[in-house]
Amino acid sequence: MESKKILIVEDNENNLQLFKIILRKLGPEILVAKNGPDAFELIKSRHPDLIMMDIQIPGMSGIDVIKETRKLPDFAETPIIAVTAYAMSGDKEKILAAGADYYLSKPVNTRELPLKVKEILEGHENLEES
Ligand code: MN
Repeated sequence: MESKKILIVEDNENNLQLFKIILRKLGPEILVAKNGPDAFELIKSRHPDLIMMDIQIPGMSGIDVIKETRKLPDFAETPIIAVTAYAMSGDKEKILAAGADYYLSKPVNTRELPLKVKEILEGHENLEES
């Protein structure tokens, strides 16, 4: 997974450090953004293989970043994991309708997260090989 790039979008410093520590162990390059506009710029300039997107971020909501990302021609298939702490009824549907592939609620299960990310990235590798 050394050649892969994961973008972590998270404005909470503690969560960000935690996600970085967990995902770095898988071996990919880790990119970080703490607000919506920076996330969207990094998506366009660095082309991550997987995006972990906090929904409550400053500047531009995670939902809007996901919607804009899906409009880009090269990002129709990029796996996006949405993460949110304040899920209200209908939120999950809204987030998935915006174009997220997966949905995690905070606090994120630190055992499941790396397994999920590994499964997603390896799944995509297998699709590309076949
Ligand atoms: Mn947040």
